[in-house]
Amino acid sequence: MNIFSGLEEIVKTDYPLAKHTWYGLGGPADYFIRPKNTDQLKEVVKRCNENKLPVYVLGFGSNLLISDEGPRAAVIKLETDKFTKIEFNGEEITAWAGAELAKLVLTCVQEGLSGIEAITGIPGSIGGAVKMNAGGNFGDIGAVVESVTLMDSQGDIFEKSKPELMFDYRSTNIIAKFVLNARMQLSSADPEQIMRTVKEAWIYKKNNQPLNTKNSGCIFKNPRGVSAGALIDRAGLKGLQIGGAVVSEKHANFIIAQKGCKSSDVMRLIDAVRQRVKEKFDIELELEIEIWK
Ligand SMILES: Cc1cc2nc3c(=O)[nH]c(=O)nc-3n(C[C@H](O)[C@H](O)[C@H](O)COP(=O)(O)OP(=O)(O)OC[C@H]3O[C@@H](n4cnc5c(N)ncnc54)[C@H](O)[C@@H]3O)c2cc1C
Repeated sequence: MNIFSGLEEIVKTDYPLAKHTWYGLGGPADYFIRPKNTDQLKEVVKRCNENKLPVYVLGFGSNLLISDEGPRAAVIKLETDKFTKIEFNGEEITAWAGAELAKLVLTCVQEGLSGIEAITGIPGSIGGAVKMNAGGNFGDIGAVVESVTLMDSQGDIFEKSKPELMFDYRSTNIIAKFVLNARMQLSSADPEQIMRTVKEAWIYKKNNQPLNTKNSGCIFKNPRGVSAGALIDRAGLKGLQIGGAVVSEKHANFIIAQKGCKSSDVMRLIDAVRQRVKEKFDIELELEIEIWK
């Protein structure tokens, strides 16, 4: 029985996910689904529920490690026109989940809107960035998000606004399955000044992160008051290698996938790093990336 009958145009089966991740790693999903609009997304969610099929939401795969076997699930990606829009209304913008952060930053520079320079150089989507409150030394996206439109795992759509909507370090209190869009409050500023800040953030990233490699950004969250990268470095783990996975020499909180690397190599290296940091500093590192088994 085809559980997605009538939706064949947007559903692929046994679909390789590696090319949808920054690591370029990971096996096939049972179903890979690209709904064209919210009604279709609702229908997909309904069919998944009826068939007790787990659902995963994929952004740009820049904070993900997918197992070599791939997930026995429906992986849903919001990438059609409807889900990638960026709408401007004075100093307020509504960005849909599948829109690219880089495009959002550049469009805001052109429009003379300041507030999201902090997300410069983060290679994700709005949905992924909002879900984990992406950011860094220059601030995070949560600072400008006023409200989000969400869809829960029953297919119900609703809004959540500040102060009920909360952002914390690399986390939010969003528990609904899908972020559909985010409304942000920016402020007018001189485009040249905004561009200078964007360039500064970009240069900082280029100097501090191994950007031209296959990676997934920072692997671990910073424990309170300490940098995870500094702990890994002080444990002498830069350059540590398991299979094709290696701890970056440039930034110790990055694990690079070299040619021939498998997801299982990265997972084993993550475990090894965690264990060594625990032994040396008695600190448990918590994952920043998400692993789909
Ligand atoms: C080179 C490099 C540098 C990076 N630098 C930074 C940095 O400076 N700061 C930082 O915070 N991060 C950084 N990252 C990590 C990553 O880019 C961010 O976490 C980004 O926000 C993830 O977005 P994504 O669309 O790729 O999400 P994905 O990796 O596809 O997904 C991440 C999580 O978000 C969920 N998700 C995605 N879309 C939706 C949606 N529409 N609704 C609900 N849930 C959703 C997924 O289910 C998953 O749980 C970096 C990554 C790389 C590769």
